[in-house]
Amino acid sequence: MVLEVLKSIFGRRIRLPRDVVTRVPRAARKAAEPQVAAIAAAIDVIAALPGLADVATTKKLPKGFFAAVQALMAAYDAYVATVVKLVPGLAGAARPGTPEGYHACHEQPAAVTGVEGLAIYRASRPWQDFGQVAQELARLGEQQFKDIQGLHTGKDPDKISMTGAAVQQGRIEFARRGELCPLLDPETHRCRAWEQRPFGCRMHFILGDASAADPRDPRWPKQVKAFNVRMPLRQMVALMQIEKRMLLTPAPFLNANLLQWVQLTEGQQLAEVGEAPLRFSPDGQAPVRANRNRPGAKKFAKEKERRRK
Ligand code: SF4
Repeated sequence: MVLEVLKSIFGRRIRLPRDVVTRVPRAARKAAEPQVAAIAAAIDVIAALPGLADVATTKKLPKGFFAAVQALMAAYDAYVATVVKLVPGLAGAARPGTPEGYHACHEQPAAVTGVEGLAIYRASRPWQDFGQVAQELARLGEQQFKDIQGLHTGKDPDKISMTGAAVQQGRIEFARRGELCPLLDPETHRCRAWEQRPFGCRMHFILGDASAADPRDPRWPKQVKAFNVRMPLRQMVALMQIEKRMLLTPAPFLNANLLQWVQLTEGQQLAEVGEAPLRFSPDGQAPVRANRNRPGAKKFAKEKERRRK
């Protein structure tokens, strides 16, 4: 353990593939100006929503919040798509949350904002197996915290710098455990929260052999060739300012971030102001929608009776 700490302090700093800094070429940045403007406009819409600072107390999001977040995600995807067209090698690259690139889903997404986490929680809470998913989020979140805290050398165990060696090395050790993100479907290897997945997953492209992105592979992380199409800095800062106004201090790691919203809502659905909350059964299950197209459904009975006559 001591050796690991010394290595993490004095050794060359190892970056996880999603931390790799890649520059978007000037031509691509120029071509993507309309998409960057759309990202900025979407952030402005969120920033202008009334009652953002009250979320922690009311446990309700402003009306239109989730539509605005989805518009931001769509604008960011359009930005990424424009860059992909102009950077050689990105078009066919594997991506997290797909059968080709799911190996990268062993690396827990970091720097997840509250805006992203709230949207993922809202989408995933109605899943029938959400209880199991939440347990897995808790198990993995706790494990990663232990991995980081075990390397922390400061006096106060709660004061761990996000940019410090303990966090970096702890993230690496946790990834090497080979645990998959609880939002990945283990059979199809597709992200179940694809439409709401974090920016850290949307930006990431694995170049070359995607199996090297599995942290148990000897080539990981140094030999993983990755390209990250990050959100432009100015827009990222604007998003962070919204975070501050919301007074929610979200955890930067996806597992802990989502659990925060489970705790805030006491396991209930995150609703917007004026919206009827989804009712769950006493065991926390979402209501199953009646399938009105099944052959025995009432709506077909009259027709059957008529034909019979
Ligand atoms: S959120 Fe989706 S794409 Fe991202 S790591 Fe989890 S499963 Fe993979």
